[in-house]
Amino acid sequence: MPDGNSRALIPSVTTLADYQKQRGFQAYQRASGQGANGAATILDAVRQAKLRGRGGAGMLTAAKWQIVRDAVEKRGGPAFLVCNAYDADPKSLVASTLLTNQPFLVLEGVLLAAQAVGAREAYLYMHSTNRTGYAAFNAALNEARNAGMLGTLIVNVVGVDVGFMGGEESTMLEVIKGRRAMAQQRPPFPAQVGLGELPTAVSNLETLVQVVNIMRDPAAFAKSGTQASPGTKYVSVYDATGNGTLLEVPFGTPIAAILKQAGITATEASARGVAVGGPEGGVLPPAQLNTAFDYEPLAAAGVIVGSGTIEVLGPQTCMVDWARERTNYLTEQSCGKCIPCRTGTKRIAGTLETIMSGIGVAGDLDLLNEFADYVPDGSLCGFGWNATHPLKTALRYYPDDFQKHLQGECPTGTCVPVRSHRFATKGVL
Ligand code: SF4
Repeated sequence: MPDGNSRALIPSVTTLADYQKQRGFQAYQRASGQGANGAATILDAVRQAKLRGRGGAGMLTAAKWQIVRDAVEKRGGPAFLVCNAYDADPKSLVASTLLTNQPFLVLEGVLLAAQAVGAREAYLYMHSTNRTGYAAFNAALNEARNAGMLGTLIVNVVGVDVGFMGGEESTMLEVIKGRRAMAQQRPPFPAQVGLGELPTAVSNLETLVQVVNIMRDPAAFAKSGTQASPGTKYVSVYDATGNGTLLEVPFGTPIAAILKQAGITATEASARGVAVGGPEGGVLPPAQLNTAFDYEPLAAAGVIVGSGTIEVLGPQTCMVDWARERTNYLTEQSCGKCIPCRTGTKRIAGTLETIMSGIGVAGDLDLLNEFADYVPDGSLCGFGWNATHPLKTALRYYPDDFQKHLQGECPTGTCVPVRSHRFATKGVL
């Protein structure tokens, strides 16, 4: 669960009667009333809306769901739907808040998605520590089931606590199957061969909430956001003391404006930088905060949408130490299946430890730059592809922090050495 205090600006609607007063389940009933044509109606609406998955990668949802439908048509038989409500990033407030405050909205998204892909059975996959979210969703599920809203769809709730990798698509399916939390080789993709060897659509719960919004009012959805990324995005915004707020902002909103909406001003005096995208995101200096919060502009700046978490780093943050802490966390979370990710992240963390401990040498920077590409280039899944963003952005935007440490001085006077000797390793790669 998130650190620090958090508050959410998402209204709470937790009874069926209240949800129905706010157009609840109308979109689903309209689509299901169309019988066999309902699936195509939902899929067309999602395609026209150019909905991008909110889980971090930004793939087009309709394209993914079309693969599932094509596979169903080719093979015959049903499909599965998995709604990712896991909040892999411990600081993400998205799934916990939506499940707690808007359980019927999430459920309507599940029903629409299941109809679109032809699923007879759905899984809501969530963090087992999210007790309030579970209680709210389970109550909503029972109330909707008793009211006959689910039709023949079977909805299972799976709660797990398997660390950051639990949010990775193929790992998620392994965990649901009762196997070890480890990413799998693709192809075949889950959309082709997933649970029970059947086509399986895996979509984030935020994506499914946006499907409801699209089905209710496609024009309003199209009006917000950018041409490349229409609609809104939930973001978890933290100030430098660890207080978090969940906001819904249109894609393309500058980071500075998001911070302002959360009541935070990040200037050179009050912030050393802003971390964007969660554990695998990077850091931007205050001068870069006009960057639009959208997939491509963030990628150009070296960070990611990732978990949608934005954290202000206080003025005393040393970026060598920040990158070390982030990478240390990632070394613990890597599933260990491929060597570049498993050992590469450890080498990066160890080298950063050496530098921040005041015993680094200039050649360490060459090693870091080498590993910054070696890890993503040799990795099997998105975890490894993104794992070096903290290092890369620290090197890109704060090179003086590294140089000062190589000269024996911490730029903010805050680093406490954690290592007293160097590892003598040559020709690592
Ligand atoms: S990249 Fe990392 S997390 Fe992904 S499969 Fe390889 S070792 Fe596991």
